[in-house]
Amino acid sequence: MDNIFSTLYAIQSLELAVDEARQRLHDIEAALSNDAVITATRQTLSTTEAALHEASAHTKNLELELSSLIQKIQEVDTLVYSGKIKNPKELQERNDEVASLRRRQTTLEEQLAEAKKVQSTAQQHHTEAQHTLEEALAHRVTDETELIEERDQLNHEIDTILRKRKAKMQGIPKETFDHYRNLRKRKRGQAIALLKEDSCSACGIEQPSSDVQRILHGDEMVYCIGCGRILVTG
Ligand SMILES: [Zn+2]
Repeated sequence: MDNIFSTLYAIQSLELAVDEARQRLHDIEAALSNDAVITATRQTLSTTEAALHEASAHTKNLELELSSLIQKIQEVDTLVYSGKIKNPKELQERNDEVASLRRRQTTLEEQLAEAKKVQSTAQQHHTEAQHTLEEALAHRVTDETELIEERDQLNHEIDTILRKRKAKMQGIPKETFDHYRNLRKRKRGQAIALLKEDSCSACGIEQPSSDVQRILHGDEMVYCIGCGRILVTG
């Protein structure tokens, strides 16, 4: 039946199709930005890996230096207390040497503690980047080219649908359309439902026969007694 209510129903079908296309576009954008995350995270990973490698090497060097220093201190210490050095001047020099080596040991130990902190932070950043990449890879849906093609197609479809909608809207009075739009907001996108075998297709409630007659007549707005949507014949 061709009346303003069935035209409104056709408009609603177009709008629902646009809503669906836009939802899909939203998902595509999310997937594409996920792809961007993957690319960016791979770059981050190579940076964090290099930083970790450098920090580990620095720690290792300090550990080796400290280890040979401790060995050196033990050697000189052993010599000082061996009784082999009889010359007091030489003994004093050896004692001074041990004191100097111990100061160097303290400095090295401080540097090592700092280097370990840096290494731990670098490890943490690297692990975080690995997790981010794993997460992004797990949510990868399809390849980028396919998504971009689908996005272009959806945008084209939306344009076509919106043109059809505009054409259909010509015959709808503004107040009727505003009323429909408010109702659509309240009814989760569906302001109008089809009457099928005397029942509302949205909620399934059977309508009184007088209402069915008015709906079939099509010149006034009739609401479903169950869900409050406007009822039209298909
Ligand atoms: Zn209903």
